[in-house]
Amino acid sequence: MSYGYGYGYDSFTRLSMDELRSKAHRTIAELSKKGDELEPVVITGRKITATWWGDAWCNNLERYADYANRIDRGKRYVRAECVIDLKIAPGQITALVIGTRKTPYKIDVSVKPMSKELYQDIINRCSARAASLEALAAGDFPEELKEQLFAKNNGIFPSPKEISLKCSCPDGAYLCKHIAAALYAVGSKLDTEPLLLFTLRGIDTGALIKRTVEEKLSAMLANANKPSPRILDANQEQLTTLFGVL
Ligand SMILES: [Zn+2]
Repeated sequence: MSYGYGYGYDSFTRLSMDELRSKAHRTIAELSKKGDELEPVVITGRKITATWWGDAWCNNLERYADYANRIDRGKRYVRAECVIDLKIAPGQITALVIGTRKTPYKIDVSVKPMSKELYQDIINRCSARAASLEALAAGDFPEELKEQLFAKNNGIFPSPKEISLKCSCPDGAYLCKHIAAALYAVGSKLDTEPLLLFTLRGIDTGALIKRTVEEKLSAMLANANKPSPRILDANQEQLTTLFGVL
């Protein structure tokens, strides 16, 4: 079988999982010594993702893929800890993934901002569910938001047209195995930090949660017979404890 990229490329894909992991650890140590602040992705479970929303992210990746074999190799790479750095910011995912050459490949994924209409629609859908946001802030994506946010056409995942994928490797495919590994790594990261999905789409979750809390507070005060500053203080304290923000 030929991969078409010379001996080095071929030999790297034949490294065992342990060899890949050792190479990743060595590269992390070298770059850390130089002062790079890396955020490596380590898969601890049998599966890459452990939550339904992490699974949903990974299943959605098939929408971006043109070659199934690269997707599978991406899974192998992320399991072998080849994603030695992953950062998620509004509209952007950056990653370093080890490969054939000595220096890791740079992955840059840009996500277009969602339309104002969709943004407002998502804010409204979330705001109507204060209990869900409470769970979300605590790191648990509530299942009742599944239908609301993960719909293919008007959900929070970027559509294939809204996402642009780049890798510094010589593989000419739109979605090479390094990009696939980085995108699977995002799924794993979302397991423990679901709010990063909102961050990626440019939604300020702090403001969203605060707004929902304020609306809840206003409703509580409107229902109280004799609202007083003491009630306000008590409610605010209770809500602060509840959400851990404000
Ligand atoms: Zn690549």
